[in-house]
Order: sequence, then C-alpha cells, then structure tokens
Amino acid sequence: MNTRTITPNLIQLTRLHFVNAYLIREDDGFTLVDTMLGRSADGVIAAANSAGAPIRRIALTHGHGDHVGSLDALKERFGDEVEVLMPELDARIHAGESVVDGKLPGSWPTVRTVPDVRLAAGNRVGSLEVVPTPGHSPGHVSFLDVRDRSVIAGDVFTAYGRVAVTNHFYWRFPLAAMATWDRDRDLESARALAQLDPSLLAVGHGPVTRSPRAAMEQAIERGSRS
Ligand SMILES: [Zn+2]
Repeated sequence: MNTRTITPNLIQLTRLHFVNAYLIREDDGFTLVDTMLGRSADGVIAAANSAGAPIRRIALTHGHGDHVGSLDALKERFGDEVEVLMPELDARIHAGESVVDGKLPGSWPTVRTVPDVRLAAGNRVGSLEVVPTPGHSPGHVSFLDVRDRSVIAGDVFTAYGRVAVTNHFYWRFPLAAMATWDRDRDLESARALAQLDPSLLAVGHGPVTRSPRAAMEQAIERGSRS
C-alpha cells in the first residue's frame, strides 16, 4: 500500500499502482472514501493507524468491485464502530433490485454489508458534502470537502497522464470507460464537478491534481467531441 499525505485533511492510499482510496481527517477520526479491491483491509487499517486516528465511517463513491472490494472485510473488523454509507441507487443494485433497464457494465460483486445510510444529494458525511454525479454508475456520487473545496470524484474522471472523463475511451486507463453505464450523464456530471471550481481533484484511478479547473474543462471538451 502506497500512502501519500496530500493535505492535512487528505491522505491518498494506492494499491497495485492503479486503484485509490482516501482517508479524510475529521475531529473524531477518519472517513474512508472507497475500499479498493479485495485484500486491501490490512493495508488500509495500517495506514489509518500510522496516521494516528481510527476509521469512523466508510463512504463509497459507487458500487463497482474496485471500490467496494474490501468493504466486507473492513466491516467484519470494525462491526458497529464504523458507519457505512453508499449512494442510494448503487445500494439498491447491491441489494438485488433492478433499477435500470438493460445490462449494467462494470463489476458488481456480491457485497454482504448492508449500508447504514443510503446517500442522497446534499447529505453531509463529516466535512464532505455529497454531490450527485451519476453516469459512470447509476448512483455515483462525489464528495466536496467544504473546508477547502477539494473534490473526491471517484470514477467521473481518471488522471493517468492527464485528466480524462470516463465517458470515452482513453488508452491510459480504458477500464474506466468500459465500466461506464451512461456516457452522456457521466459527461454532465463532469461538468457539474468543474463548476464547483475545486481546489484539488482526487480520483479513483490516477494521481491527485491541484488547481484542476483548466484540466477538467479540457477533459470535458475532449469528452464532448468523442
Ligand atoms: Zn467504477
């Protein structure tokens, strides 16, 4: 597990060079955003321990396997000590409901953990405000840290080589576009995030981008021509 302190409130965790999760510092401990692939629980817990605080909440950007992969293992360790929060529609998909027509792309592994909270627009998770960003998955959400306007955008964007919207194929990380459910909505969500004028863009796959507005606008421009 690779651990990078991005700001005093934000730690990026990276595994296998391609999948990220984030520890967000709050007064009572950490919110973990996303859980990476399976077998990441030990590394995540060690990272929180060495950063000096317990994990209090697990908030998911969306239900794909490389984001919920270690949710059950972490829940088994922590039990009721952690609150689990998942976007409404993706939680319903994991509960076995069919919420969209046709086949859902991406990996939707079986998850035993039932979220305590189904996230909706405007909800707060500590200092994070829930921003609905559907498209990559039906319920996908992003998180805006109201303290410094950093944004955790899950898989709306990737950031390998350059910032890219996941509505179209980009050779540096083609998996993301292949897993995207609704490309038009995904692009709309990318626009909504750029409009927040974030101070920093943190994504599920790729490095953090500081002062990302121009890179996001260029990515949206390329995405709208694709
Ligand atoms: Zn995804």
